[in-house]
Amino acid sequence: LLQLFRPLDMLGFVYRTVRQGLIDMAEMFRLIDTAAEVKDTPGAPALVVRRPTVVFDKVRFGYETDREILHGLSFEVPAGNHVAIVGPSGAGKSTIGRLLFRFYDPWQGRILIDGQDIAEVTQSSLREKIGIVPQDSVLFNDTIGYNIAYGRDRANRDKVIEAARAAAILPFIERLPDGFDTEVGERGLKLSGGEKQRIAIARTLVKDPPVLLLDEATSALDSRTEQAILATLRRVSENRTTLAIAHRLSTIADADRILVLEQGRLAEAGTHGQLLQKRGLYAEMWARQQAESEG
Ligand code: ADP
Ligand code: MG
Repeated sequence: LLQLFRPLDMLGFVYRTVRQGLIDMAEMFRLIDTAAEVKDTPGAPALVVRRPTVVFDKVRFGYETDREILHGLSFEVPAGNHVAIVGPSGAGKSTIGRLLFRFYDPWQGRILIDGQDIAEVTQSSLREKIGIVPQDSVLFNDTIGYNIAYGRDRANRDKVIEAARAAAILPFIERLPDGFDTEVGERGLKLSGGEKQRIAIARTLVKDPPVLLLDEATSALDSRTEQAILATLRRVSENRTTLAIAHRLSTIADADRILVLEQGRLAEAGTHGQLLQKRGLYAEMWARQQAESEG
């Protein structure tokens, strides 16, 4: 019987979580796998964020017990700073995001937001404070308005319109005959990658989180659309603590600090200029990507 009820419990959990707009659809499937692993401690308080500093303190973690992915990783993102995480594919960049959102708990070490261990506060309060603009934004088969507002039970229309404006998608929506009531997705209007991305940004703006997590947010786009979205994201991330996981280095060259991750360890850290002078892994990656974009 227990076997039978557990999946139902899980679905309820996932449903509520999606309802609260804490996650994107793509993440929902990950949650189904991981929801059981992470639990609120009884009586856990809510995360209270005044100064959204993010700290990883000697974090060790792996998905499987016999394979450690992050080997005692430490770094700090001061409140309001923009930190980029770069490194080869498989280095553990996205894992950092998953741990920050607490899809998993570290084996060892702590992750702190404004001095509070995220493992000791409620998951709902944690996820309220973090906005994610994922790699591929999946939209609900529903109206544009619903897709922008679902982060809140009843985000008012003004807020939705304001968010759409800030995400630079308002003129596009206003040109549609049904405006915000236009159905999108399989049943309705097909949106381009850039339009979906802007709707995801608008959704994040409605949520208004102090911490922003961007995971290769612009990778699915052509470079002109990417530049435009980046400009929007830059505006959106002002005054927020931002962790940007990036593949294309050109998109994060202006970060306050760049962390270069290699096989679950911090290989280098600094500004773009400092890292180029080091002539290490970052400089090498930069040179390679410059050559690719010219060729
Ligand atoms: P990056 O984002 O830097 O490309 P990831 O953080 O996604 O890297 O992955 C780091 C390592 O963890 C990779 O070797 C990857 O195969 C492994 N990994 C990622 N997700 C899982 C998972 N759900 N189960 C097992 N291994 C995983
Ligand atoms: Mg990744």
